Amino acid sequence: MTETVIIAEMHKGKVSPTTNELVGAANLLGSNCTLIVPCTDSSVADEASNISGVTKVIAAKSSLFTNYDAAAWAQALDSVAPQGIVVTSASAQSKDLAARIAARRDISVVQDVISIDGNTLSTPIYSGKAIENVSINGDVVVSIRPNVFAGADNDGSCEVQVIDASGDLSTAVKELVERASTRLDVSEANIIISGGRGMGSPDNFSHLEVIADTLGAAVGASRAAVDTWAEIPHSMQVGQTGKTVNPNLYIAVGISGAIQHLAGMRSSKYIVAINKDADAPIFQYADYGIVSTWEEALPVLGNALSNMLS
Ligand SMILES: Cc1cc2nc3c(=O)[nH]c(=O)nc-3n(C[C@H](O)[C@H](O)[C@H](O)COP(=O)(O)OP(=O)(O)OC[C@H]3O[C@@H](n4cnc5c(N)ncnc54)[C@H](O)[C@@H]3O)c2cc1C
Repeated sequence: MTETVIIAEMHKGKVSPTTNELVGAANLLGSNCTLIVPCTDSSVADEASNISGVTKVIAAKSSLFTNYDAAAWAQALDSVAPQGIVVTSASAQSKDLAARIAARRDISVVQDVISIDGNTLSTPIYSGKAIENVSINGDVVVSIRPNVFAGADNDGSCEVQVIDASGDLSTAVKELVERASTRLDVSEANIIISGGRGMGSPDNFSHLEVIADTLGAAVGASRAAVDTWAEIPHSMQVGQTGKTVNPNLYIAVGISGAIQHLAGMRSSKYIVAINKDADAPIFQYADYGIVSTWEEALPVLGNALSNMLS
């Protein structure tokens, strides 16, 4: 069977749990999974050696992995990764990386894969309005949508090889200054509560934050909210030109349900919509709908959740 090479999904220097899903997907594509862990400290790769189905872990160690830089990461990882089907996450960063590695190897890339059946990969196109089935033959780079594939368990054991991946680089990002936020990112969250233009003002997002804190959820936004209010950053935007999310629960508040917003959240397991307009398109996709202003609905919802969870 074909060799698979997985690029571990990293979060704040650690191997993210999404990596287990990549291994689950890679095992459907081929055998002999080599897991590459981009790191500055090779000890972070040790934990990944427990992921079942991984044959070998390569800790690609370099100071350049402190901050993401598409060109530098692609060059360094390409130089340490063996040939085979390369598997990455379909997070915004890793889709970028996937395309660059494919270009370096002169092979095809299939982005945002949601199912694998033998050599046939399925991926949403046209903002999720259609599904494209792609037959692969030989080496390709495949990015896997998070929260879709079952994650491999952590009952395995394999060798860890440490490789210096510093290489011959002309550029590297030395420092990244992030906007101060203690909030969970929408792309990592299992529960998301998002606000749209119907929230009326950016200050009113604090009402969403109260519920997010109760549920351990991330707060997202529609593009209209991001475009209208400078206080709502693009990193919160869900949709075609924002982030694609796939949580267990997505609560849309004051969001109409435009096709471009749906493209980023339609595959959520459960969708709850709160909108004062009973004809808002979001209700066609919602599992549960509350026709009400958020001013009326959110305090009731917040109290009910606090009572349930206390
Ligand atoms: C190329 C392109 C890419 C795009 N990409 C994205 C994207 O990534 N993400 C995205 O979201 N959009 C995207 N859009 C924009 C998209 O078409 C919509 O304009 C946008 O999603 C609308 O945001 P909204 O639902 O918050 O605002 P609106 O459409 O203005 O809807 C506001 C909703 O709030 C409701 N409401 C008002 N007051 C209240 C209240 N007090 N209580 C409860 N409900 C209330 C209204 O009934 C209405 O349904 C894109 C558009 C284009 C052309």
